[in-house]
Amino acid sequence: MNPSCGTTPSCGTTPSGGEPKDVVSSEGYHYALEAEELTCSPVHFLTFESPTVVETGLPKVHAQTPKPVIVLDSDETIGSWGDLSLLYSYFWTVLRKAPCPTRFVEIAKATGVVRPHLAELLTSLLSMKAEGDVGAIVLMTAAPNCYGWVSFLVRVLEVWLDLGKGALFDLVLAKEQILAWNKEKSIFWRPEEGIPKDMHQVKAGLGLAPDTPTLMVEDRPHLVLHADRLLQVPPYNVAVDLVGVAETFLDKEEWSETLALTWRVTFSETWDIFCRHPHHFTDTAADVALKSQVKTVKDTVKTLCT
Ligand SMILES: [Mg+2]
Repeated sequence: MNPSCGTTPSCGTTPSGGEPKDVVSSEGYHYALEAEELTCSPVHFLTFESPTVVETGLPKVHAQTPKPVIVLDSDETIGSWGDLSLLYSYFWTVLRKAPCPTRFVEIAKATGVVRPHLAELLTSLLSMKAEGDVGAIVLMTAAPNCYGWVSFLVRVLEVWLDLGKGALFDLVLAKEQILAWNKEKSIFWRPEEGIPKDMHQVKAGLGLAPDTPTLMVEDRPHLVLHADRLLQVPPYNVAVDLVGVAETFLDKEEWSETLALTWRVTFSETWDIFCRHPHHFTDTAADVALKSQVKTVKDTVKTLCT
């Protein structure tokens, strides 16, 4: 899980000073960040121009012939993103620059945070959608997007799969949207149990008929409401040697001796736990949960269509 050596692509950045407004990466991804707030406010107070996370086109489905909607959980289902999100925050809050999706793809490949066989599952879903067997593909995550992490992760996955912006998911729902829906619908839960995910919200978000079947892939299925089918996967939990990542993938200005002195302990937290308790983490080489889901999803979609 140590990162392999690699070159660091050049990335679009905000100026270190001045008054940056919008940030465009080398891929042309528009973050629409109110950058002045970035320099003045703590992370959890940042606001973005688009609070609805990702609105990525209309699902290719006719209201009279509802095709199943596939809903994917994010954390611990399709990847283990904790350390990557910490690095993302480091770029915005410490370096004051836009992280580059291409560079994060390289880091993801080197660290194993993307769950094995995810590409196979996603390309299979896209093929089923193109063939008309699947109505839409949705990412539904309890991770917050208040500082743009979920939107960025989606872009990283798109770049990884060589897809255009918005070509992967028809809808992305993050914590803010889920909490708002749950409040509106009076869905209550115990905070320690996690946030419920209501498939009715997915269909409403896509503008689909209430009888549209839904299939969700999730590591915590007890949190899912009103799904026609639930496919449970074991949680995928990977520790990243984030200091090694910084030393390998960041340049000298981004990981200077001074910054390393300040941030080394924070960057080492997960890795230190892994070194003491490796059995708490997933054996990435042995994880075939998504491989088996490719066929299971196909078979389940067939049953939902009949
Ligand atoms: Mg999860």
